Amino acid sequence: MNKDQFLLAVEGLTVSFDGFKAVDDLSFYLDPKEIRVIIGPNGAGKTTVLDLICGKTRATSGSIRFRGKELTKMKEHQIVHAGVGRKFQNPSVFEDLTVFENLEVSYPEGHTVMGSLAFKRDTAVMEAVEEVAGTIFLKDLLDQPAGLLSHGQKQWLEIGMLLIQKPDLLMLDEPVAGMSVAERRQTAELLRVITRDHTVLVIEHDMQFVGDIADRVTVMHQGKVLSEGSIEHVKNDPKVIEVYLGH
Ligand code: ADP
Ligand code: MG
Repeated sequence: MNKDQFLLAVEGLTVSFDGFKAVDDLSFYLDPKEIRVIIGPNGAGKTTVLDLICGKTRATSGSIRFRGKELTKMKEHQIVHAGVGRKFQNPSVFEDLTVFENLEVSYPEGHTVMGSLAFKRDTAVMEAVEEVAGTIFLKDLLDQPAGLLSHGQKQWLEIGMLLIQKPDLLMLDEPVAGMSVAERRQTAELLRVITRDHTVLVIEHDMQFVGDIADRVTVMHQGKVLSEGSIEHVKNDPKVIEVYLGH
């Protein structure tokens, strides 16, 4: 098997916290442009997997290969630079800035002058902001302070702040938590659009949402892969019903 045919190849990944293996010999592989959803009971190790991929937590052993690079040896900012974007569970937008400004400061070339906000709004930035704002359903709210957005809109804005950096892999931890049914549906639509240009790794509990978006589903339990395949496959897997869906 040529591992570099995958966008991401996680192999034998393990992390121990004081002897407790939160992630235990985990392996999975993402194809380019795939949407993969990780599901599993609380404490299964899902968030820890994202922490390991983005370099927030160091692996005890195992390998994470991303476009031919070994991420376990890299620092967080190098991993971002390599093309991995990660959204945490709670939205963290700049509440006092407008939607436009939130996207503008997230534009990669803006980073050197971030803080002053005085950098020039050249055409490339303006176009990128407008394109992303359209994708995340906030085109008509560009001048609105982010603090006035609904919870769901803040989640979309934060996704937009990642998108504007053009990551190859986008990782989202429970993106529809706290969203209305209508917002969930729109988010599913959003992810479908995003996956035309990006590979997406999502952690989610809402099985309706998972069914709407997932190409494949990886079920985790006690730090390991319990089951993997299509939503239909994992839904009907007796092991999955026993530890997760049956509750
Ligand atoms: P999930 O996201 O599937 O609910 P987590 O990955 O957050 O699960 O957590 C998996 C297990 O690892 C939990 O038992 C949690 O308490 C433990 N854990 C996660 N991060 C740490 C850490 N930094 N130190 C110690 N234990 C941790
Ligand atoms: Mg979690």
